[in-house]
Amino acid sequence: VSSLEPREDHRICVCVRKRPLNQQETTMKDLDIITIPSDNVVMVHESKQKVDLTRYLENQTFCFDHAFDDTASNELVYQFTAQPLVESIFRKGMATCFAYGQTGSGKTHTMGGAFSGRDQDCSKGIYALVAQDVFLLLRTTAYEKLDLKVYGTFFEIYGGKVYDLLNWKKKLQVLEDGNQQIQVVGLQEQEVCSVEDVLNLVELGNSCRTSGQTSVNAHSSRSHAVFQIILKSGGNLHGKFSLVDLAGNERGADTAKANRKRQLEGAEINKSLLALKECIRALGQNKSHTPFRASKLTQVLRDSFIGQNSSTCMIATISPGMASCENTLNTLRYANRVKEL
Ligand code: ADP
Ligand code: MG
Repeated sequence: VSSLEPREDHRICVCVRKRPLNQQETTMKDLDIITIPSDNVVMVHESKQKVDLTRYLENQTFCFDHAFDDTASNELVYQFTAQPLVESIFRKGMATCFAYGQTGSGKTHTMGGAFSGRDQDCSKGIYALVAQDVFLLLRTTAYEKLDLKVYGTFFEIYGGKVYDLLNWKKKLQVLEDGNQQIQVVGLQEQEVCSVEDVLNLVELGNSCRTSGQTSVNAHSSRSHAVFQIILKSGGNLHGKFSLVDLAGNERGADTAKANRKRQLEGAEINKSLLALKECIRALGQNKSHTPFRASKLTQVLRDSFIGQNSSTCMIATISPGMASCENTLNTLRYANRVKEL
C-alpha cells in the first residue's frame, strides 16, 4: 500500500524503458548497444569508425528518475511511474503519463493499448493497472464517501485534429472559452464501473484506432492516443488521469524520402512534441506562463500543465539495437531535456 502514497514533491518523473531485441533484430544480427548499469542510469555504446577505419565504442551516459532494463515487467514500470500519481486524482489532481519514443520501441506495449490484459496479469498495461487502482481506492473508506463516478474517454490526435475513438473516429472541435477552459466538444465520456468496463473501452477504442490500416504501424504510429480516466462528483469534474501513447518520434531520413503527406505529418508531430516538452518544463519550473496553445496535443491537455495539483510522468521507450542508435539518442536527449530544470 505504501507505493500508493502520493509524493507531494513529485510533479515530474522521467523514466526510460529498454525493450528486448526482437526476433527480426536477432535474425539481422543487430547488436544490443544499451546497458542499464544501475536503476537510474542508461548507457549507449555507439559504434564509431576512426579515419583509419578501426572501430571503437563511444559511450554516452544518461541519468533519469528510473531506468528499466529489458527484463522489467509492465507492473514494475507502473509502480515507479503512474502508480504514485493515482491517488492525486482523488484529491482533485490532474495526473498525466506519457509514453514517448520511436515506433516499435514499446509505447503501446507499456500503455497496454494492444492488450486487454484479461488472460494473464503480466500482459496488463498501464491503462489496466491505473484502472485497477482507481477502483480499489474508490472503495476505500477515505474516498467512498465522496460518491465519485468514473468515466473513460479515448481519442486520437492526428494532423492537429481530434478524433473520438469511442465514436467511430468522429472528428471533434476543440474550443476555448473566455476562462481559458478547453473543451473537446461532443467527446464521448463513458461511465465505467469496473476494470472490465475499462478494458472493454480500451478494446473498442483500439479496434477503432487501427481499423482500415494496411500495416500495424501505419496510421497509429503517426497519431497521439489519449485515454483518460475521469472522476466526477455531482456531475462536476473532480480529478483526471490522462494516459498518452504518443506518436512515434522518428525523424530525418524517413521523412526526407517520404511523400508530402508524410512530411506534413512529421512536421505536425514534431511541433506537438516540442510543445509538449516546453509545457512539461514549464510545469516543473512552476512558470506562470505555459505555452499550451502551441499544439492541439498540449491544448487538449491544458489541465495537465496548469495548477498546483498537476503531476506528470514520462516513460521514454527505447529499442536496444545498433540500427536504432540515432533514434534512441534522440529519445534520450529529449527525455533529458524534459527532466532538466
Ligand atoms: P510502439 O507502440 O512504440 O510502436 P509497440 O509497443 O507496438 O511499439 O512494440 C513493438 C513490438 O515490440 C511489439 O510486438 C511489442 O509486443 C514488443 N515489445 C515492446 N516492448 C516490449 C517489452 N518491454 N518486452 C517484450 N516485448 C516488447
Ligand atoms: Mg504503438
